[in-house]
Amino acid sequence: MLDILFTKSAGLHSNQLRDVGVKDGKITYIADSSEAAPESIEVYDLAGKLLLPGLVEPHIHLDKALLLERMAEDVTELRRAIEVTSRLKQSFTAEDIYERSMRVIRQAVSKGITHMRCHAEIDPVIGLTSMEAMVALRQQLQGIIDLQVVAFPQDGLFHDERMLSLMQQAAALGPDVIGGITYMDTDLSDHLAYVFEMAEQRGLPVDLHVDFSDNPQQLAIKQVIEATKHYGMQGKVSVGHLTSLGAADREDAKRIAADIAEAGIHVISLPLTDLYLNGRGEFKGDYRGLTPISTLLEHGVNVTYGSNNVQNAFTPFGTTDPLDVGLLLAQTSHLGSAKDAMQLLRMATLGAADALGLTEYGLRIGADADLIVCAAKDARSLLYERPERERVYKRGRLVSQTEVKQHNWLSMETVG
Ligand SMILES: [Zn+2]
Repeated sequence: MLDILFTKSAGLHSNQLRDVGVKDGKITYIADSSEAAPESIEVYDLAGKLLLPGLVEPHIHLDKALLLERMAEDVTELRRAIEVTSRLKQSFTAEDIYERSMRVIRQAVSKGITHMRCHAEIDPVIGLTSMEAMVALRQQLQGIIDLQVVAFPQDGLFHDERMLSLMQQAAALGPDVIGGITYMDTDLSDHLAYVFEMAEQRGLPVDLHVDFSDNPQQLAIKQVIEATKHYGMQGKVSVGHLTSLGAADREDAKRIAADIAEAGIHVISLPLTDLYLNGRGEFKGDYRGLTPISTLLEHGVNVTYGSNNVQNAFTPFGTTDPLDVGLLLAQTSHLGSAKDAMQLLRMATLGAADALGLTEYGLRIGADADLIVCAAKDARSLLYERPERERVYKRGRLVSQTEVKQHNWLSMETVG
């Protein structure tokens, strides 16, 4: 006896309607809808709607989300965004971080996000407050959304003598990932050695903010590739931003893309921030401030994308919806074909899951029943129209439901 049986569900790869069964939080049955399905406690007829694996947010800062109304000025430059946010951080309390994080997560779950990697800020001002809040949220939200917590030294490791001790204390709180940033410390080698050694000692993956600028000469990624190979961390390192690579010489970028693929480094594009803060100077060619997604994909790199921030000094935009970010990339990276739409959706699901090292993910027998239901006729319509996620399931449990109703004076009918 199944717990839930979804009948007549559509997928993106085929027009064939399928039945999908869930038992004890796992997907245990998938077959053509024409076949006789096992009995189930609950049966839900999807009538041709899409049933997809949950969306995965690979890079977000919950602790500094939703700060626009606290900012005295608009910010258009990275260093200034860091300064303004540093000042705001002085007044952060655990309750404040929790409340803003929960507002973001509530919205994220309604958009179909079932997994999220969040960076917890660690510095002498905020101390361990953010890290403790994220670890508590991770525990509290079990069964609703899976949070991975990154211990993230936003301002660098060596600017203040208290930082290394704080990172050790943060590591003792049980992060899922060790974070780093290539553009805040003067000595990159020391920074990478510290981050990779901490990760190696604890058997954790690494997630770095890398080369966030328009400067084609800023290619710390080369040292990140070397460190990844040196520590044998192939497949366990993710890099966010990587925008300088988009400004670099094309042939250099291709060579580096091949090296990134060989080192198994995952690249996370963060266009809501990158398009806002980058590309404001004078540039030749078609550089827009983004990592070169097509070049990376062509060379076999696992590329995904995230929100990074939601409505703060770095990014005044954001709804948490990965499909918004995917559409933005489609529009700004010349990714407009039907094949590109499939690729962009893959990046927000399987690609992001791969970057996060998720092993129980996917719409396949044996995987966790982390599923979303929405109405779209194909990949393009899903990405371009971004329909409501009507139902969101976490391990077979309904965690969000959105009713779709429209009263249109042309038809005066209720559709949906
Ligand atoms: Zn970030």
